[in-house]
Amino acid sequence: MIKTTATVFLKQGREASVKRFHPWVFSGAIERIDGTPTDGDWVEVKDSRKQGLGYGHYQKGTITVRLLSFSAIVPDEKIYAEKIKAAYNQRAFTKVISEHTNCFRLVHGEGDGLPGMIIDVYNGVAVMQAHTVGMHNDRHRIAEAIKETLFDTIHSIYYKSQGTLQSAENEYLLGMSTVPHVVTEHGNKFYIDWEEGQKTGFFLDQRENRKLLGEMSKGVSVLNTFCYTGGFSVYALNAGASLVHSVDASAKAIDLTRRNIELNGFDPLQHECFAVDTFDFLKDKKDQYDVIILDPPAFAKHKDAKHQAMKGYQRLNAEAMRAVKSNGIIFTFSCSQVVDKQLFYDTVVSAALQSGREIKVLDHLCQPADHPVSMYHPEGEYLKGLVLYVS
Ligand code: SAH
Repeated sequence: MIKTTATVFLKQGREASVKRFHPWVFSGAIERIDGTPTDGDWVEVKDSRKQGLGYGHYQKGTITVRLLSFSAIVPDEKIYAEKIKAAYNQRAFTKVISEHTNCFRLVHGEGDGLPGMIIDVYNGVAVMQAHTVGMHNDRHRIAEAIKETLFDTIHSIYYKSQGTLQSAENEYLLGMSTVPHVVTEHGNKFYIDWEEGQKTGFFLDQRENRKLLGEMSKGVSVLNTFCYTGGFSVYALNAGASLVHSVDASAKAIDLTRRNIELNGFDPLQHECFAVDTFDFLKDKKDQYDVIILDPPAFAKHKDAKHQAMKGYQRLNAEAMRAVKSNGIIFTFSCSQVVDKQLFYDTVVSAALQSGREIKVLDHLCQPADHPVSMYHPEGEYLKGLVLYVS
């Protein structure tokens, strides 16, 4: 059995969202707490009539409890193994893992019923990232559950939470693996460095969008901005693009891109890298590329920064609409969770109006099946994109 240290009672009427399986209990919904929990403890949540609603991790703050269970029965030690197994089965069933793809997200926080935990798998190595103290405290239990589920398909587990939690240290919880480490994604090869790289080392969330870009890249010129590891660039080259330019403000990212291009057997002459700001790069470009990819970092991480972020997205898209050739294509993305689909769409429309070009929407893109969104937790949806045809 999981040990709890307190019971959290909700105000009258505030149980409604929990009954709709929303996993967050906000501080304003709490009537009183019996016990003195410390951050990371398991607690029980009850309604004002003392009916049990579920169990979760306590952490002082706006979101005070993150629920892992919506039952009045105390969860047992198997809770992590059950959830991780269910997450794995969904990936296997939805064909995320295949002979051409050996890297995937095994656990996507709330989308897999494990708020505060991310687990990415890179060809035999699982990388865990905790965003809450509760998940940090339970890291060994979770590592055991990963071993149980993935069994002999993994040899190492790296716990990387130093950047997300003050109290955490990065460490191997199983085995050890040298970096960089090679993975295959739809047959494209990439070096992954979970120790030094951003987040867990790679942006797995763009896998299906990279594949779609590949399908449109044969014989054409491609500009990949905010390229990081060069994901879209490698797909474009493997698909037979005539020329690929990659841009990132970070020299380290450009170095990663170069190495990934070489790993896939390409001549450096078929590809050019620019370690510059995308806005500066686009400034003097007009009717130059057949395909342009815009995949910036989250311009707005908080609601307060939204207005400034929208201006950034508008400017970026308007510049790309000038730089793309006639009858060219733009893949444009936003990974800001606070900017919803409609707001992003409206911003791209205003960029289109500013450009004065005739533009059609060919596709609406989103995050893939290994980054699932619980229907009861729409906040989990963050990646959105549009494929535009510019006449
Ligand atoms: N498209 C990538 C992920 C992009 S992550 C993929 O498929 O994996 C965002 C990247 O944008 C980071 O590498 C960061 O260094 C870069 N970046 C941030 N601000 C930038 C700017 N103003 N100009 C160019 N690159 C920038």
